[in-house]
Amino acid sequence: KRRHRAGTVIFSADQANELSRQAVVEDAMITADLENELYLVYQPISRATDLKCIGYETLARWNSPRIGPVSPAEFIPVAEHNGRITLMTRLLLERALSVASKWPKDVYLSFNLSAHDLSSPDNCLKIVAIVLKSGFDPARINFEVTETAILHDFDQASNSIQMLRELGAGIALDDFGTGFSSLNHVHKLPLTKIKIDGSFVRDIHQRKTSFKIVKSVLALSADMGLDAIAEGVETLEELQVLQTLGVGSVQGYYISKPVSADETIAAFAPPRAN
Ligand code: C2E
Ligand code: CA
Ligand code: CA
Ligand code: CA
Repeated sequence: KRRHRAGTVIFSADQANELSRQAVVEDAMITADLENELYLVYQPISRATDLKCIGYETLARWNSPRIGPVSPAEFIPVAEHNGRITLMTRLLLERALSVASKWPKDVYLSFNLSAHDLSSPDNCLKIVAIVLKSGFDPARINFEVTETAILHDFDQASNSIQMLRELGAGIALDDFGTGFSSLNHVHKLPLTKIKIDGSFVRDIHQRKTSFKIVKSVLALSADMGLDAIAEGVETLEELQVLQTLGVGSVQGYYISKPVSADETIAAFAPPRAN
C-alpha cells in the first residue's frame, strides 16, 4: 500500500486481488453454516526413528457451498476479524477431542490455536472448560501456538499458555524459525515442544544453511528439554538427514498427507480375521 501525494492510497493489482478475495471470503462466512461446512483433517506426527504414529495435528477445512473450498490460511484470519473464530475453536476442539478419545492412550492430539484464543483469560478459560467437559486426558493434548499469535499481546498470551500448562497440556511453538525473536520466546514461555518450520526442512540434504540451522535448533531444544518436531517432510532424503541429526518426530507428505477422522480411527483397529 503506497500513500500517494494527495493522500490517495494506491494498491498494486496483487493487493487489490487479495483484498477482493478477502471480501469474498468474509461475505461467504456471514451466511455460512459452519457446523456443517467446517471439518477437520488429521495429519500424523511420527517418531523419527521408526515412523510409528504418536500423534495427529488437526487442520481445519471449510467447504463453502457458495465459494468452494477455502484454505485455513485464508479463513482463520477472516474469522478472527469478524469474531466467528470463537465458534470455530469450540466446534473444532469438541470434535477433535471426541475423535481423539477413540485413539490408543499413547497417541496425542495436537490442536492449532489462533491469536484470538490466547488474547484474553476468558477465551482461554473456554478452551479449558471444553477440555474438562470432554473428559479427555489434558496430558494427551498439545496446543500449537505461532509467534505471530504470541506477539499480538505477549503478556496475555503468556498468561494463557501458563493456564493451559496448568491444565496439564503441552505447548508447541509452531513455525519455529520464521519469526523475529524465536529464541526470546523459547526462553520466556513454558513451552514443551518446538515445530521446525518446513522451510528449513525443504532440501535439507542439499542446503548447507538449512542443515546448520536445523542442527543448532536441535542442540538448543535438547538443551532446553524440548521435543523437536520437523514439519513439511516431503522426501526420503530429507527424512534421512533429519534422522541422522536426531530429530524426535517428523510430519509431512512423505509420511502421510492429512487424513479423515474415520481413517485415524481405522488405523488403530485390530486387523480383521478372514
Ligand atoms: P500449520 O499449523 O503450520 O500447518 C501446516 C500446514 O502445512 C498445513 O496446511 C498442512 O496441510 C501443510 N503440510 C503438511 N505437510 C506438508 C508437506 O509435507 N509439505 C507442504 N508443503 N505442506 C505440508 P493447511 O492445512 O493449509 O493449514 C495452513 C495453516 O492454517 C496452518 O499452518 C495453521 O497455521 C492454520 N490452521 C489450520 N487449521 C487451523 C485451526 O484449526 N485453527 C487455527 N487457529 N489455525 C489453523
Ligand atoms: Ca500447526
Ligand atoms: Ca507449522
Ligand atoms: Ca504455518
